[in-house]
Amino acid sequence: MEDQRDQKLVPDWLVEFHGHLCPFLVAGWRMGQAALSHLGVARERDQGLFLFAELGGEALRPQSCFEDGLQAATGCTAGKGTLRRLDFGKVAAVLAQPGGIAVRVALRPEVCDVLAQADYALERRQGKPASAVSPAAIADAAGRVARMTADELFSFEKFSVVHFSPEVANPARTRCANCGEYVFEQDAVTSDGRVLCRPCAGHPTAV
Ligand SMILES: [Zn+2]
Ligand SMILES: [Zn+2]
Repeated sequence: MEDQRDQKLVPDWLVEFHGHLCPFLVAGWRMGQAALSHLGVARERDQGLFLFAELGGEALRPQSCFEDGLQAATGCTAGKGTLRRLDFGKVAAVLAQPGGIAVRVALRPEVCDVLAQADYALERRQGKPASAVSPAAIADAAGRVARMTADELFSFEKFSVVHFSPEVANPARTRCANCGEYVFEQDAVTSDGRVLCRPCAGHPTAV
């Protein structure tokens, strides 16, 4: 286990998708695998498992990279609507089977401390984007996470009952009376007798 040079820390396709290799990507990948193993289930292909990532927040944080690792490992993704972000500011996540069981997995504080002192974190604090950090520093920090056991990395809490059940959207849609684009009826608003999408009704937009 000493020589990690030929061993992939995460699959190539995940690094490609994420944009760079970093320690929190590896931590998320390991966290997702550990959660699946605690539930005794395989990576989800459809919408049978839900992931609640606890970091949340709109402000950019290096730790949020773990959410891509989590999605890749569990198969719970933003696109399938099975990733939910909770605004708790913690590197932790709950993986739940609606009507079944769940597990919460949290990165141990000691691991956060180790990563915060690694050369990788030093270079990031100097303002380097993750993809510009020296390969040696990346290999050191990501390799440390990859080499730890699941119990060294994480604490686990199991839940025997899951009360969460996902809402299924009403498929009915209409066309906005102003812009003409389709909008799901449940998301449209009525103003002066006209059915409008939210941007046309004056709601705040992304940019
Ligand atoms: Zn990253
Ligand atoms: Zn509109």
